[in-house]
Amino acid sequence: MTRSEQRATGRIKEISSTANPIIKDIRLLEKKRHREQTNQFIAEGMKLIIDAIEQGWHLQTLIFAASQKLNPNVEKLAANCVAKGVDVLIVPEKVLGAITRRDNPQMVVGIFSRQFIEPSQIRTGGEDVWIALDRIRDPGNLGTIMRTVDAVGAKGVILVGETTDPFATETVRATMGSIFATPICRMSEDDFINFADQWQGLVVGTHLEGSVDYRTPDYSGKPVLLIMGNEQSGMPEKLVQVCHQLIRIPQVGRADSLNLAIATGVCLFEIRRHSLSLEQGAKA
Ligand code: SAM
Repeated sequence: MTRSEQRATGRIKEISSTANPIIKDIRLLEKKRHREQTNQFIAEGMKLIIDAIEQGWHLQTLIFAASQKLNPNVEKLAANCVAKGVDVLIVPEKVLGAITRRDNPQMVVGIFSRQFIEPSQIRTGGEDVWIALDRIRDPGNLGTIMRTVDAVGAKGVILVGETTDPFATETVRATMGSIFATPICRMSEDDFINFADQWQGLVVGTHLEGSVDYRTPDYSGKPVLLIMGNEQSGMPEKLVQVCHQLIRIPQVGRADSLNLAIATGVCLFEIRRHSLSLEQGAKA
């Protein structure tokens, strides 16, 4: 039985100091190990928190600035949280700043449970697009990619090997709320190679030595698995071997390569081009 199931209503607490043990504990969520141990992460902003709750994410604690006590929208959210057994903390802005490590923090912050999906939960069909990120290192890149995956109507993200944490505060911030709309699956390199071998559709890798212009393949009528290489070293040979095609974005100028998140965006919008229109949003 979880803590919230044991209690019918949550508790409201006013805390004024960063030395309070509850705040000290929340601040530890800055560390990956603590996020893993507690299965928690921090998300900032009221609209984002309301959207996340509506999408079924489990809010464990709501924290808001004392200056918002008379804000009717915050009051309503806090009352709903308490009614559902979620604890609510009211703190000075400086404490919110310490929790989020920001000079100008959002006035409302939520502590959510992390969610990953299992490989067996990835069921593809139609024109589903999934993206695999090989050992992605940069939190900003990962957040930007998740936001793009959401915007383009791809189905989710597979993190291959040792990667940056999708639930790090910087990553969550960069997703601009798309963390709650984008399924995330983790796989070792070997498991991913098995997974890609069994993919019923097209497996495309992006590579600086790819011989296929990224605009050439026919991406329609089948599920597409797009593989992106690591920021520093690109894609290892083992992953190259599972790709049906290696695509490249033509470049001119002096840059050796594109930023990973930019390259991902360019490819994803091309892969989904036939399914997107201004009039209808996503057609499929
Ligand atoms: N030094 C790395 C290399 O030699 O591959 C550069 C990696 S690049 C910064 C990171 C990833 O972005 C690449 O592995 C690839 O997935 C993608 N990428 C960047 N520019 C690309 C381009 N012009 N065409 C295709 N993919 C590209």
